[in-house]
Amino acid sequence: MAREVNWNAINAPISGILSDVRIMNTASDSTKPGDNIDSWCGKCKMVLAHTIEAMVGKKPARVSCNTCKSQHSYKANPPGEGSRKTPGSAPSPRRSANRYQSLLKANGESAVKAYSPASKYEQGDVLEHPTFGRGVATAVRDGTKIDVLFESGSKILIHGR
Ligand SMILES: [Zn+2]
Repeated sequence: MAREVNWNAINAPISGILSDVRIMNTASDSTKPGDNIDSWCGKCKMVLAHTIEAMVGKKPARVSCNTCKSQHSYKANPPGEGSRKTPGSAPSPRRSANRYQSLLKANGESAVKAYSPASKYEQGDVLEHPTFGRGVATAVRDGTKIDVLFESGSKILIHGR
């Protein structure tokens, strides 16, 4: 018995919300199909004047390009804007080789330590690895991992084990 009463209580407010939405949609008057609007055109590769073909709520959904007449979805801004590549985010092999050389010079070759996972290293330590050769510890990640820059590139090594 109690369950039936609950269902009725849930249904009533939902139908009320649906009729509210319908009233709001008919009230929109700012932009409408047939209006001109600036949109990105993927064919022209430019932001150009477009004609609105279809709306979703108060926003243009489909537009047609006034220049090339192609129909596509509305895009206010060119794609990829704001995601510019930051120069130097991916260092070239040449650049990391230069960094390796200058780090070796800066830290001196007098105190080269033989690499062993049991030893502890600090930033700036120069060490000799049996496989990778001579490297410079560029960062201590935590108690057990260090970043070491070798001539072949940066590697994560175990230390202090
Ligand atoms: Zn176009």
